[in-house]
Amino acid sequence: MHKLQCDVAVIGAGPAGLAAAGRAKAAGAERVMLIDRDREPGGILQQCIHNGFGLHLFNEELTGPEYAYKFIQENFASGVEFFLNTMVLQVQPSGHIYAISKKLGMVDIAAGAVVLAMGCRERNRGAVTIPGSRPSGIFTAGTAQRFVNVEGYLPGKRIVILGSGDVGLIMARRFTWEGAKVEGVFEIMPYSNGLTRNLVQCLRNNNIPLHLSHTVTKIHGQERVQAVTVSKVDEQFHPVPGTEQVLDCDTLLLSVGLIPENELSRDANIDLDPVTGGPVVTDEMETTLPGVFACGNVVHVHDLVDNVTRESWLAGEGAARRVLGQQPGGDLITTRAGEGVRYVVPHKIHVANLAAKKTTLYLRVLEPDENVKLELLLGTKPVYSRRERVVRPAEMVSVSLSSGQITASAGEELVVRLVREGDQA
Ligand SMILES: Cc1cc2nc3c(=O)[nH]c(=O)nc-3n(C[C@H](O)[C@H](O)[C@H](O)COP(=O)(O)OP(=O)(O)OC[C@H]3O[C@@H](n4cnc5c(N)ncnc54)[C@H](O)[C@@H]3O)c2cc1C
Repeated sequence: MHKLQCDVAVIGAGPAGLAAAGRAKAAGAERVMLIDRDREPGGILQQCIHNGFGLHLFNEELTGPEYAYKFIQENFASGVEFFLNTMVLQVQPSGHIYAISKKLGMVDIAAGAVVLAMGCRERNRGAVTIPGSRPSGIFTAGTAQRFVNVEGYLPGKRIVILGSGDVGLIMARRFTWEGAKVEGVFEIMPYSNGLTRNLVQCLRNNNIPLHLSHTVTKIHGQERVQAVTVSKVDEQFHPVPGTEQVLDCDTLLLSVGLIPENELSRDANIDLDPVTGGPVVTDEMETTLPGVFACGNVVHVHDLVDNVTRESWLAGEGAARRVLGQQPGGDLITTRAGEGVRYVVPHKIHVANLAAKKTTLYLRVLEPDENVKLELLLGTKPVYSRRERVVRPAEMVSVSLSSGQITASAGEELVVRLVREGDQA
């Protein structure tokens, strides 16, 4: 077995891994390795040839590859070592990483700190269990995106899309631009799961109908999809009899959610958040396995790459601090999602960091709402509040606390909740 050593090993060279590796190097880690199973760095951004990346961080409308390129260049210039075509198979509590590489064969990497940045994967037909036969022509939206944008292959001409996640919305537009007919996007929830800008730019501007409270109840066809039945659903998401409609199509695209890629984390016995599916992390993005950090979609699914980058800088800095022996002391507070909030990341915050630097909380709400108050309570004491005109589950909310804005003691709980107009505070 080929043996290697480094200060920081980053698994995954998507935007999260690229930002973490560059920042670990800048923060003083000597030897930083960036490992990816793919043949090129950039992660999911390689196939996102639409613009809309980097609006917040660079104030520019970059395509995915353009955004990734900025960080790839920075990593090359700073001496981060790339190990591509290398699949990590296991992360040991000791910091050893076992990987298989096209060039080196089996590799054992002894790392001072590890950053998990493996991204997420799409939920597929097995996850949504649609009755009917199993013909070809059923793709997840991201797979179809790779076919069209990277491999140059149009997988269908008459498309029905199930789920209104952003990848599906973007592919609805892409298929239309390529000359295919998109019959409609069918979403089981009474609201869309995509960003407003994608609803407008991808669907409305291309006259593609969005059917809320609808689902696909049957797939027809033996060799290839020939049609799907769609039905309206009631408040319990059960199909309403009599509302069935058969739509002819040759392709069904699934855009029904993303799940953190967490086999390595689970195998390493890292605590996972049952709501996000990703590791439980501190404000330095350290998991419950000391010396192992995590960032990006492997922690929680992001809608904006800019937030992935910001979060991953913290992981890279944390990993470097770990190998340099500069981590903050052990006093922590915990965060918790209160009323109206689905989850909060990070799950724990160092009291010392709260006093010394800016801390950002990321959260998603449970349901769409308007004119609500977003409140932070330390125990039962309100310590922060702001009004939100509109909140939607599809749009991540962030709260930045400046250094010293909240003074907390070890073991306290920081609750994030939404309060409706007229509700008791
Ligand atoms: C279709 C689509 C459209 C989007 N559009 C926008 C947009 O317009 N604007 C915007 O701001 N954001 C957009 N996003 C969101 C943003 O691109 C993602 O949030 C971001 O790419 C996540 O970065 P990541 O590094 O965590 O994951 P990824 O980009 O998925 O990278 C993970 C990397 O880890 C590697 N990996 C996984 N497991 C292993 C292993 N065991 N060993 C080695 N390597 C491994 C993978 O090969 C991959 O390269 C979009 C996302 C998608 C999917």
